[in-house]
Amino acid sequence: MSQTPVDTALAARTRRIAVSATAAMLHAAGQLRAEGRNLVDLGVGEPDFPTPEHIKQAAAAALAHNQTRYTDIAGLAALRQAVATAHARDYGSVYPPEQVLVTVGGKHGLFNATQVLVDHGDEVIVPAPYWVSFTEQIRYAGGTPVIVSTDESQGFTLTVGAIEKALTPRTKVILLNSPSNPSGAVFPPETFRALLDLCRHRGLWLLSDECYAQLSYDAPPYSVAGEPGADERVIISGSLSKTYAMTGWRIGYTLAPPAVHKAMNSLQSHTTSNTTTFAQYGAIAALTGTQQPVADMRTAYRGRREVIVAGLNAIPGVRCVRPAGAFYAYANVGHFLGGKGPKNTMEFSHRLLREAGVVSVPGEAFGTTEHVRFSYAASIPMIEEGLRRLRDFCAAIG
Ligand code: PLP
Repeated sequence: MSQTPVDTALAARTRRIAVSATAAMLHAAGQLRAEGRNLVDLGVGEPDFPTPEHIKQAAAAALAHNQTRYTDIAGLAALRQAVATAHARDYGSVYPPEQVLVTVGGKHGLFNATQVLVDHGDEVIVPAPYWVSFTEQIRYAGGTPVIVSTDESQGFTLTVGAIEKALTPRTKVILLNSPSNPSGAVFPPETFRALLDLCRHRGLWLLSDECYAQLSYDAPPYSVAGEPGADERVIISGSLSKTYAMTGWRIGYTLAPPAVHKAMNSLQSHTTSNTTTFAQYGAIAALTGTQQPVADMRTAYRGRREVIVAGLNAIPGVRCVRPAGAFYAYANVGHFLGGKGPKNTMEFSHRLLREAGVVSVPGEAFGTTEHVRFSYAASIPMIEEGLRRLRDFCAAIG
């Protein structure tokens, strides 16, 4: 494609990243919806539950009390304390509030971390399938994502040997996301411990994205930050978005060694400054108040997981491993690709949208070639209708 004058006027780093396929898919769905199409949305990556009442009330009270000014760059002292205390309560970590940075969502925390850790030419190991923004954030920082495949037949879990094989003298960071978006894989504590050891021996950073940590269905929620000595080598990226149904509030955080924290804080001081002040008050209520809504939502997702996984595996030609966490089913639709069928999962998802009115996200976005991601952050009737439409669609193209 030839470059327009505008393209060449943009900084080179902007050409290293592309708009996410997730966004492209959601845009196409939005257009159809605007035309009045009745869609089953299994594409979204956000809870369908409202934010719990006590959290909303805390933010409303903060507004009523004129909590509308800047806070410290790193966030309110009370919120940083609440993050440290909640993380200690949930995962056994030990962080002083001075090592907590409150960010504009987990995505921003990850961006801060990659910007301060990754130099030009550095390599970051990323297991596939991976969340779309990981690779783009690494490239934007000038680094190279080194993709390590996981084994679908083993539930997309990671082997330490596969990571070791990918190490080079340029490796700087190992980036893990467990439970994983899109596969739902949960890496066991042994894997984290072995990788933490590896990082300590080789002087690497372990960047752990815990966005879905509380959405673990078969094992207790886990954080590598609870391991002895983790604080020297680990950067945690956390988020309140999925745990507390707070995607629009834009509250995330990082826990990091002092030097890394300081660099991220400095970067944040020149970019976003603090995240929205009254939202921070809501976040304090989320972290320090009752955790019952989290347990209730987890129970609901667990039930939905059974429905969607059983339903997908009952469709001839589709198979889906049972995700251990998050709220995505990563179904293998390789059987339908090629020949007279869709040539890849991008085409599969787009046709599924146009012909059956089901929103999904193609696996190409996440670095695999035979999968489509279906979110089960949707009601059971919605999931069942989506499955019915998918079954008819597959029967028509199979
Ligand atoms: N990490 C993963 C794996 C995600 O799926 C998401 C959101 O979809 C995020 C981080 C960031 O979420 P937020 O910026 O809303 O905290």
